[in-house]
Amino acid sequence: MRFVTSAAVCVLASLASVPTASSQTAGIDLGAIDRAGSPCNDFYQYACGTWMKNNPIPSDQSRWGRFDELALRNRETLKTILEEAAVDKPGRTANQKLIGDQYASCMDEAGVEAKGVSGIQPVLDRIAKASGKDWLTEEVARLHAASVNVFFRLGPIQDSKDSNKTLANLSQGGLTLPDRDYYEKTDAKSVETRDKYVAHIQRMFQLLGHDATKAAAEAKAVLAIETALAKVSADRVTLRDPQKRYTTVTKAQLAETSPAFGWDAYLKAMKVSVPSLNASSPGFITGMSSVISSNSPADLKTYLTWRVLTESAELLPRAFVEEDFQFSQATLLGVKALAPRWRRCVVLVDAELGEALGREYVERTFGQEGKQRTLRMVAEIEASMEKDIKSLDWMSETTKKQALEKLGKVANKIGYPEKWRDYSSVKIVRGDLVGNDLRASSFAVQHSLNKIGHPPDKSEWSMTPPTVNAYYSPAANNINFPAGILQPPFFFKEGDEAANYGAIGAVVGHELTHGFDDSGRQYDGDGNLREWWTAEDASKFKEKADCIVQEYGAFKATADTNLNGKLTLGENGADNAGVRLAFMALMDAIAKLDAAGGKSMPGVADFTPQQRFFLAYGQVWCQNISDEAARVRALTDPHSLGRYRVNGVLQNMPEFQRAFGCQAGQPMVSSKGCRVW
Ligand SMILES: [Zn+2]
Repeated sequence: MRFVTSAAVCVLASLASVPTASSQTAGIDLGAIDRAGSPCNDFYQYACGTWMKNNPIPSDQSRWGRFDELALRNRETLKTILEEAAVDKPGRTANQKLIGDQYASCMDEAGVEAKGVSGIQPVLDRIAKASGKDWLTEEVARLHAASVNVFFRLGPIQDSKDSNKTLANLSQGGLTLPDRDYYEKTDAKSVETRDKYVAHIQRMFQLLGHDATKAAAEAKAVLAIETALAKVSADRVTLRDPQKRYTTVTKAQLAETSPAFGWDAYLKAMKVSVPSLNASSPGFITGMSSVISSNSPADLKTYLTWRVLTESAELLPRAFVEEDFQFSQATLLGVKALAPRWRRCVVLVDAELGEALGREYVERTFGQEGKQRTLRMVAEIEASMEKDIKSLDWMSETTKKQALEKLGKVANKIGYPEKWRDYSSVKIVRGDLVGNDLRASSFAVQHSLNKIGHPPDKSEWSMTPPTVNAYYSPAANNINFPAGILQPPFFFKEGDEAANYGAIGAVVGHELTHGFDDSGRQYDGDGNLREWWTAEDASKFKEKADCIVQEYGAFKATADTNLNGKLTLGENGADNAGVRLAFMALMDAIAKLDAAGGKSMPGVADFTPQQRFFLAYGQVWCQNISDEAARVRALTDPHSLGRYRVNGVLQNMPEFQRAFGCQAGQPMVSSKGCRVW
């Protein structure tokens, strides 16, 4: 019953799990550059070629980049913290005891082996014995309270049209494969993946003790139910549209359009007392009802059992962990070997008790100077954006005024929460890995549901402090930078400022732009979905954004899969504008230095500050990725692959082309030069 976070915000990158260390530098990595390459032919190869050659994907990863190197360094820090906290001795703080005891429970492999499936057995027995008219409703409520994703999800969502309110939201869910397309596509690779999935479900049921014939039938039933749910699920492009996610449904409407499920009883069991809810994917809620009514109770129970089993796999004995790895990571992502146990346990504690662990992390690693420098960078890039908006030739003064007003209201959160989550009600028992997970998950669900009906708490974070990532929240109109990202290769304390603008500066610009991307632009500065654009400006925006849709849609993720230009539009737009804004800030900083005494930023290893800016940006994205993982990401990830985050942006930028002397006709000079902001 893995703790699942709700992902409603735009993030810098969707991270996989991680492995090996690397060196820290004070700016660009000269050793990463492929000097034989040409920056105007393929800048990504030029900036990262030697790095890519020297850094093959470790066997326990599906992707390996400089981003991932940093994430691994953070996990090694967390490991040290957790190992110390796990020593059962007097003097541990309540916080250390909490995270240390769960880490010890996770690391005790012999203890986990000895317990077998006894931790989840009561849940499985309960599902098997469930009876009565409302058995399914009652069971779904119990599983949701423990954070098991069956059928759909219930959670809080800020009212998009009244940002002072928090609504109850129903969203689609219940699938095991990464996307609805995996159930429906008929190409050879998709069919093969589904065949392997069915075989995997069968083996997992056999590990539970079911005989082969029964387990095979169960596997077929699970696939049939999940396929039916996939058919009524909305696609990811639709779900990016905030207007389409905004649908109010009353309880009476739920009863009428989705009659096979006992909504009243369910909401009562979840202690959510509201007259109406938001349905972010209303077609799913209706369609789900037919899926329930057209399947037998026995098959529905098999589906629920499967979801408990697959979500708990990593907490169970080795045979389950390995079977789960073979499918979820080897088959789906091309990973060759299971990550070491300590790393899986670090990830688990971060997911279950993230702010308790994050608090220890911040105390050890995060200094005030990092925070101050980032705040200064944010202020400079906001000033660039103001200048940029004012200078746009395609936007009317009316819309510009509104855009500037929104920009002025963006709040900045750097490092970690001001107020830490209180976990004192979560009982962690040393040696009870599954029970601890269940209690931590239930706490997280309750914490989340408690928000419904109250004004949103904008000080909350949806990422833990050690996370190497950042996000913009359109509802809160704030940008958030966890402590984990404020390190090399993003931020060089006392390092080369040109590199800082190209790396963390571009990230700041990226997050800020999310407030003005195809989705974010529909919200005003107070987080309300409101049309503040003139119709003419909105149509010009769409026209300009379409250039980016076409450009990225032509990029290949694998030989047979292109990027989805519409799915990645928000992120690509944020990358394009983010680099431009950071570059403007760099040029301003250089001008200020010049004015202060004619002392410009010096050259480093023959590279001008402008060149180092672009190299630092490119090198953040140096990565190798398996074909399998590239395919999954092309179908599911709103972010483009590293290569295109670099070349896609820079081929649109005259500033880049000037810095490296690229000429029209060369590959890094796009004839279209797409630009929105
Ligand atoms: Zn983003």
